[in-house]
Amino acid sequence: MTQHEHVRVAVIGSGFGGLGAAVRLRREGVTDFVVLERAASVGGTWRDNSYPGCACDVPSHLYSFSFAPNPDWPRTFSGQPHIRAYLEKVADTFGLRPHIRLNHEVRLMRWDGDELRWEIETAQGTLTADVVVSATGPLSDPKVPDIPGLAGFDGKVFHSAQWDHGYDLRGKRVAMIGTGASAIQIVPAIQPQAGRLTLFQRTPPWVMPRMDRAISGAERWLHGKLPFTGAARRRLLWGIRELQVSAFTKHPNELGLIESLGKANIARSVKDPALRNKLTPSYRIGCKRILLSSAYYPALAQPNVDVVASGLEEVRGNTLIASDGTETEVDVIIFGTGFHVTDMPIAERVVGADGITLAEAWKDGMESLRGATAAGFPNWMTIIGPNTGLGNSSMILMIESQLSYLADYMRQLNVLGGRVALNPRVSAVSAWNTRVQERMKRTVWNTGGCTSWYLDANGRNTTIWPGTTSEFRRATRAVDLGEYDVVRAGAGTGAGAVAVGGAAAGAEASAGAEASAGTVPAARRVTDKEAV
Ligand code: NAP
Repeated sequence: MTQHEHVRVAVIGSGFGGLGAAVRLRREGVTDFVVLERAASVGGTWRDNSYPGCACDVPSHLYSFSFAPNPDWPRTFSGQPHIRAYLEKVADTFGLRPHIRLNHEVRLMRWDGDELRWEIETAQGTLTADVVVSATGPLSDPKVPDIPGLAGFDGKVFHSAQWDHGYDLRGKRVAMIGTGASAIQIVPAIQPQAGRLTLFQRTPPWVMPRMDRAISGAERWLHGKLPFTGAARRRLLWGIRELQVSAFTKHPNELGLIESLGKANIARSVKDPALRNKLTPSYRIGCKRILLSSAYYPALAQPNVDVVASGLEEVRGNTLIASDGTETEVDVIIFGTGFHVTDMPIAERVVGADGITLAEAWKDGMESLRGATAAGFPNWMTIIGPNTGLGNSSMILMIESQLSYLADYMRQLNVLGGRVALNPRVSAVSAWNTRVQERMKRTVWNTGGCTSWYLDANGRNTTIWPGTTSEFRRATRAVDLGEYDVVRAGAGTGAGAVAVGGAAAGAEASAGAEASAGTVPAARRVTDKEAV
């Protein structure tokens, strides 16, 4: 067999999730790891999304790592260049560069049940790893709808995440497709240059004012000299959002008051009643992500802007046909149509213990244990996995919880010792998802009367966490070995791996081991005590 490089951990992706995992691994004393990045620099979604107006709608002091505070954030809601620069700095400060392999797109990972390791094919060759941490993120692969006639359009076409900075929009007839978080930042940024801007709005979003301002020199000085002031600021931003959660998860009716503020925000900038009507949503606020912008509605009220309150249905030559029959001739189409979130493309590249891909295992919807691990995919973990998304707060909080889980996972493997893997039990995955979906029933995301990318093709919400970030932190503080089958190499018999009971398994152990027997070639099962 060809000799490959072997590492303890392979992290995929170098956005917030991947870099965070790298920092955490080093802190746990794990230095034998690589970060495989498909692009030529780090930064993930904050590298790829460079569209005009790109900024984060979560305040910077909360949208950053707790272990890497940045006293120098220039604005309360900093822009993409600053966030990208922050991630570059994290890579330098924490000594991550030697671990990072740029231009190493992962093409396939296959579980080797005999050797208990992952074989990983990258654009630059093959390596093996005991553990894979997939941090490819939900916003990594742009989604362009399949519009009849689009291939025959002879103007310019690009997606918000693949902005063509060489293309001059000045004086052009521009079509912006979509009204999500990306589009509402793009519209005010390009409206002054566009000759004519037509916005194709399938569903109006709820948009609230964004209280953005420059952070003063005095504040920055204070946060630099007295770091606890920056920490206090972060805690306040976090606490406010934590208090809002129950309205989204348990009492959506309480959100009516916020809707009146949203309507007032429209009325403030849009005087034309017909346009105001088009822009007013008819579903409960929060059902789709609440967007923040103080510039969006004023831009839509400008004379060079048209809002077509209908989706793009067809392209005929240079004419765009909306579902309501409206025809618009344009020079350029910009798709702000989002990402492959519920059909994570990386899942097609992961082949588990029983020879099927994660995409096949998830064909009826994504399901994981505690947002991290998947049954039949031993020692494979994802950051920002199923049901770890947030409707109203910072994803960095969720990522850090998942990093704690990763840290404990590595500790558990060390304690178990030897060549060993953890495979989540089908029963544990199922119990976790039953609890998540039970809580989901009352939430605004499921009851608010909208369709959104939070829901998968079956209408199931597999993206959002239906609780507070503190609850998720508690749920991911430690790995419960009772939720896993411990898999060991076949003790020199060459018979492949051995599934043994979880450490705290009890009666569930045999059921779990039974479940895993189909996925891992089981030569023998030993008692919990033997396993530990
Ligand atoms: P998105 O939220 O998925 O929005 C896609 C938009 O495209 C929706 O408005 C959708 O309409 C529309 N659409 C799809 N097909 C269409 C068609 N044929 N005609 C007209 N409209 C069509 O995508 P996104 O705005 O790129 O945002 C994705 C996620 O990125 C966000 O939710 C957020 O998590 C993140 N993001 C965050 C920030 C930030 O500041 N933190 C900024 C940008 C993005 P429907 O609503 O009818 O489906």
